[in-house]
Amino acid sequence: MSEPLLKVTDLVRHFGAVKAVDGISFELKAGQSVGLIGANGAGKTTTMRLLTTLDLPDSGEIIFAGMDAMAWPEKVRSRIGWMPDGFDPVSHTSVWEYIDFFARAYGLTGHKRVAEVERVLAFCGIANLSERLINKLSKGQTQRLSLARTLIGDPEFLVMDEPAAGLDPQARLEFKQLVRSLQEKGKTLLISSHILSELSEMCDSMIFMDDGRILRVGTSEEIIGMSEEKLIYQIRPADDCADVLLAWLAESSAWHGATLLPDGTVRAECRAHENGAPALAVRALCNENLVLEVTRCRRNLEQTFVNILQEKQ
Ligand code: ATP
Repeated sequence: MSEPLLKVTDLVRHFGAVKAVDGISFELKAGQSVGLIGANGAGKTTTMRLLTTLDLPDSGEIIFAGMDAMAWPEKVRSRIGWMPDGFDPVSHTSVWEYIDFFARAYGLTGHKRVAEVERVLAFCGIANLSERLINKLSKGQTQRLSLARTLIGDPEFLVMDEPAAGLDPQARLEFKQLVRSLQEKGKTLLISSHILSELSEMCDSMIFMDDGRILRVGTSEEIIGMSEEKLIYQIRPADDCADVLLAWLAESSAWHGATLLPDGTVRAECRAHENGAPALAVRALCNENLVLEVTRCRRNLEQTFVNILQEKQ
C-alpha cells in the first residue's frame, strides 16, 4: 500500500488552559479531498496552521511526503498552499502586483515569474482584473485572488480555511467548480467549512472535530450511518389500511412507536436490527398487503453533526 501524503500522530497544541488541539491523529492519501468540520472553536484553524508549519505543536508528529514537518518546515511549506480564513486587502495594490509579490516571495524570477502569475490568475478566472485595485474587488473576486495566491508554485497539498464563507450562491458554485478542477489535477485538499452539505459535495471524506479532538472520520454516509442507532421508516399505508396497519405494527415485536402523521403516512422504528434482521422485518411488513411504500428515513449531515454534539454532552 502506498504511503500517505500526510500522517499526523498525537498532535497537541494548548493555549494556556485551552486545549485547541488535543491529541489528534489522521492520515491523508495523495489526491484525497477531505473536509474538516466542527463547531466554532473546535480547533480546525489551529490544526490547519500546524499542518502548514505556521505554528508549532506542543507535542506530536506531522510527516508530510515522508518529511518531518517540524525538522524541514521550509521544504514542506514550498509544497503546501495555505488559503487562510479572511483576507486583509492592501490598498493601492493591483491584483497583478499582489500576486507578483507572492510569486517573488516564492523565489520565482524573470519570465518564470510572469508566466506563473499569468497561470494562477487565468486558472482562477481573474486575469481580466489584473489592473484592478484589490480593495475594490467583490467578496467572490477576493476569494479567487486568495486562491490564486495559494496556487503559486503549484503546490500538491492545499489547505483551505472556510474558503466559501460569505460567498453568494453563484460565487459559491463557481468556487466549487474551481475546487473540482483542482481535484482533477490530482491535488490533495483539506477544506474547512461550516456549510456541511457543501463540504460533503466537495470532499470524499470528513474529519469531524470537537474540543480539539477528532470525534468521527469517514465519508458523510459513513458518519451519518455510524450515528444512526435507530432505524426509522416512513410507511405509506394501502388505501383505508392505516388503522389495521397501526394495529399490526403495535402487535409486532420488530416494530416500535408507530405513529400516524398528518400526511397519512406512518412513522415507526424498526427494532429488528438488534438481532441483525431489518430486511426481514420490512419484508414481513410488506407481505401483509397493508402498505404501498416503505422508506428508510435518513438524517442529513447537519442533523447528525448536532446529534453527535448533543450525545457528547
Ligand atoms: P472557528 O470555526 O470559529 O474558526 P476553529 O475550529 O477554527 O473555530 P480554532 O481557531 O482552532 O477553532 O480555536 C480553537 C480554540 O483555541 C479556541 O478556543 C480559540 O479561542 C483558541 N485559540 C486559537 N488560537 C489561539 C491563540 N493564538 N491564543 C489563545 N487561544 C487560541
